[in-house]
Amino acid sequence: MLTKKEVEDFIVKFPVYQYAFLTPEEIDFTPKVRNFCKRDCRYYDTNWACPPAVPRVDKCRLRCSQYSNVLFFSSVGSIGEGTKEARDESKQGHEDLVRIIEEHLISNGYSTYTLTSDTCTLCPKCTFPHEYCRHAELMHPCIESHGIVISDLAVKFNMDYNISSRLHLWFALVFYEETAEAAEEKADK
Ligand code: SF4
Repeated sequence: MLTKKEVEDFIVKFPVYQYAFLTPEEIDFTPKVRNFCKRDCRYYDTNWACPPAVPRVDKCRLRCSQYSNVLFFSSVGSIGEGTKEARDESKQGHEDLVRIIEEHLISNGYSTYTLTSDTCTLCPKCTFPHEYCRHAELMHPCIESHGIVISDLAVKFNMDYNISSRLHLWFALVFYEETAEAAEEKADK
């Protein structure tokens, strides 16, 4: 099992801006966030990573509570004038970072469940709602889709939410738990 220090030693090799270790119990899951998704988000009803495709918030909370550990972190991306292309490129850099951290945890015997900022951009055009998600095993649901107010969580853990108009903070919550196989293997040693 990796200690927090070992996870920390790994992630600081990469451009992670700020991070905190938490537990699912420290996160508020609030169904009313879905009202903001519906009213204010351009991705609502367009992608498998966003409502209404994501299960109800109580089910999301249940899913997240199956993991004992959560790595909450942010990375900084340049979005220039805020064009879609610049934003997508910046988001991709964050997703690459998330993938490296996830793969490190998985290769050390953990199962993971990850939420990230914004919607899923893995495919040029999302298949929602006509076909199943093409990469369900790789897709990261949006943090807000799970009823989590990221600005509140950032404040709670003394992390920045905004830094400048041209630099965007991207967030991720990686829920992780040692697999039964890894735990058995360790016990046999
Ligand atoms: S992987 Fe593709 S199909 Fe699945 S949510 Fe992302 S963009 Fe949509």
